[in-house]
Amino acid sequence: MDDVTGAQLIAESLKAQKVEYMFGIVGVPIIEVAMAAQAEGIKYVGMRNEQAACYAASATGYLTGRPGACLVVSGPGLIHALGGMANANENCWPVIVIGGSADRNQETAGAFQEFPQVEASRLYSKFSARPSCLEAIPSVIEKAVRTSIYGRPGACYVDIAGDMVNASVKRSEVRVLPCCPSPPVSLADNSAITEAVSILKAAKRPLVIIGKGAAYGRAENALKEFVEMSGLPFLPTPMGKGVLPDDHPNCVAAARSRALLQADVVLLLGARLNWMLHFGLPPRFNPDVKILQVDLCAEEMGNNVSPAVALLGDINAIVTQLLQGVHKDGWKYPSNTEWWSTLKDKIAANAKISKALALQTTMPMNYYTVFHHVSQLLPHDCIIVSEGANTMDIGRTMLNNYLPRHRLDAGTFGTMGVGLGFAIAAAAVEKSGNKNQRIICVEGDSAFGFSGMEVETMCRYNLPVVIIVVNNNGIYSGVDPETWKEMEKMGDLTTIAPPVTLLPEARYDEVMTAFGGRGFLVRTVEELRSALQQSLSDWERPSLINVLIDPSSDRKQQEFPWLTRSNL
Ligand code: ADP
Ligand code: MG
Repeated sequence: MDDVTGAQLIAESLKAQKVEYMFGIVGVPIIEVAMAAQAEGIKYVGMRNEQAACYAASATGYLTGRPGACLVVSGPGLIHALGGMANANENCWPVIVIGGSADRNQETAGAFQEFPQVEASRLYSKFSARPSCLEAIPSVIEKAVRTSIYGRPGACYVDIAGDMVNASVKRSEVRVLPCCPSPPVSLADNSAITEAVSILKAAKRPLVIIGKGAAYGRAENALKEFVEMSGLPFLPTPMGKGVLPDDHPNCVAAARSRALLQADVVLLLGARLNWMLHFGLPPRFNPDVKILQVDLCAEEMGNNVSPAVALLGDINAIVTQLLQGVHKDGWKYPSNTEWWSTLKDKIAANAKISKALALQTTMPMNYYTVFHHVSQLLPHDCIIVSEGANTMDIGRTMLNNYLPRHRLDAGTFGTMGVGLGFAIAAAAVEKSGNKNQRIICVEGDSAFGFSGMEVETMCRYNLPVVIIVVNNNGIYSGVDPETWKEMEKMGDLTTIAPPVTLLPEARYDEVMTAFGGRGFLVRTVEELRSALQQSLSDWERPSLINVLIDPSSDRKQQEFPWLTRSNL
């Protein structure tokens, strides 16, 4: 045992850096890397497409704070993974992608699947490198892992020349580096804290926005204390949901547009003023709004809106600083202000509209009816994965989250196809942590299609994910089977079928039963409830509930009809 191979060095280095999960698809030249990883005790999940594997690896990074690894073959394998790297980087989630590449002595000679992988990955990552020799593997992997979690988290790529996988070196000539410490935590400047606190105290219509940076930064305990001591209303972003429970009395999510429009001071905690928050600009924001921006990335400060105060550092630490500042003289934002009445009136009015839609008994069901019943049956501690246009947008308003990092969705990049990979990651993390929480994957029919074959992965590893496909026969909306038949008679479908349409009433449930999971086709409230109850009682295997809804069902009337399709 004097010698150690490249594959072993990769595996030992990842393990030393506390990378616990690896997702990928093996082939030449990286099969041995997956086997070496398993021998080191890293959990290896074989997936069906590198894109989904990379989504899964990045989700473990978000869920655990330590990056997952994604293992891919050269050329097309790495190129498929780029979508996952881009998604991780845009979401600020850590992930380590390891790609096999051409043997060094065949480079530029037209080797099998040869591609400039280090260069290709650079656009989609914050670090992209190839160890020059076996001895350099441990330090490059340590640097990749450290870079993925230090500063703003993101994707890192390590390229492994094919011939290095099975080559070996004397053990005495290499050193696996110890685990890099957790990222150093920095506090905001004290004078900035003092200024922020005084602006908050003077605010007439204050609002706290909780983003997924607060979730990633594990700021939930400090934030709970801060919100409850200060009495401030808060609004979560989609993945900020659950940092504080959605049913918290200070949550004003149901009055989102009103809260954003009229707030005079916004404490922005780990959320970017990008498209998801309408750039922080009019007409969705008050033009004079003062932004108190909390972020660990200095370059983020001032994007689109110049902040009244920039609080640079770790959210958890800064919220504690703010708490001390607010608490000093026992200040609390009063609960009887006009601002609270405005917000509460709006919450009540919106709840009424959603409830009316939810209780509609017309057939086929609409989105609101489906989510109303699903929300009644879901366990409080479940992880909700969601994607699709209407499915995700409406589902977000109707399916509550009660715990931090329990919602995974299309995210900053608006990526469709992430759902199954995320669900597999969540289930793998759950399984090894023995937490016994359900993973519910709420998918539009179009979104499901992007990575649908990953149901085989779920069945193979007995991951009891519950997939609910809210099936409206298309992208945004589809047509009913009769209309489709008429179109078929009219001529060539490629020239007349609306580009948004998918096959009406497609049997996605049978994709699941094909691999031994449970499948349900449901049209009514009773069928939906029964299928969901049966699925939730099965801890052995995954289920897919194919919910046929009205293909013309849409979102309720929006106050701002523009910009609605793509976002919140
Ligand atoms: P959302 O989608 O919820 O709006 P974004 O992904 O746009 O959230 O923003 C998250 C922000 O949080 C990023 O700008 C990132 O730099 C920041 N962030 C991540 N972790 C931390 C942390 N521990 N402390 C402070 N900021 C953080
Ligand atoms: Mg659809």
